[in-house]
Amino acid sequence: MGIFTSIELNTMEDLFVTQIEDLYDAEKRIVEALPKMVEGATSQELRQALNQHLDQTRNHVIRLEQVFAGLGRDAKGETCEAMKGLLKEGEEMLDAKGDPEVKDAALIAAAQRVEHYEISGYGTARTLAEHLNLNQAASLLQATLDEEKEADEKLTEIAESEVNLRATQ
Ligand code: FE
Ligand code: FE
Ligand code: ZN
Repeated sequence: MGIFTSIELNTMEDLFVTQIEDLYDAEKRIVEALPKMVEGATSQELRQALNQHLDQTRNHVIRLEQVFAGLGRDAKGETCEAMKGLLKEGEEMLDAKGDPEVKDAALIAAAQRVEHYEISGYGTARTLAEHLNLNQAASLLQATLDEEKEADEKLTEIAESEVNLRATQ
């Protein structure tokens, strides 16, 4: 949500729209950021997981456009200050020097913060859509939520198996 924009909330649909606009901006930023993360990662498994999530994320943008369309609205993003900040922190990790395996672990940590933010946002948006009886929107948002959770679990798996174990040797 933009810090300097004042939003008007009269109905739960107004709230739903602000949530969707925030997610739309966030997802577009993630599409921009993920290729840099892939480039900065060393582990093949991590690169592959980030690349796969890039494909999924492009689809998250499309699903949100479908949600906007279902509301009879144009897709519009409202600056997500939180995602800007999370991705900026991720970029600090990309610029870090040192052991590539430790850096991979740092990239996973940054990526998981992003996933958790999304999981929270989509959970809320899905619940609001259900409350508003926007069934198509609810199932689109649930589909994305499921993929965010899977991406998060995959990152945990990589962190626990490969990256962190080798880095602590
Ligand atoms: Fe996403
Ligand atoms: Fe936000
Ligand atoms: Zn994601």
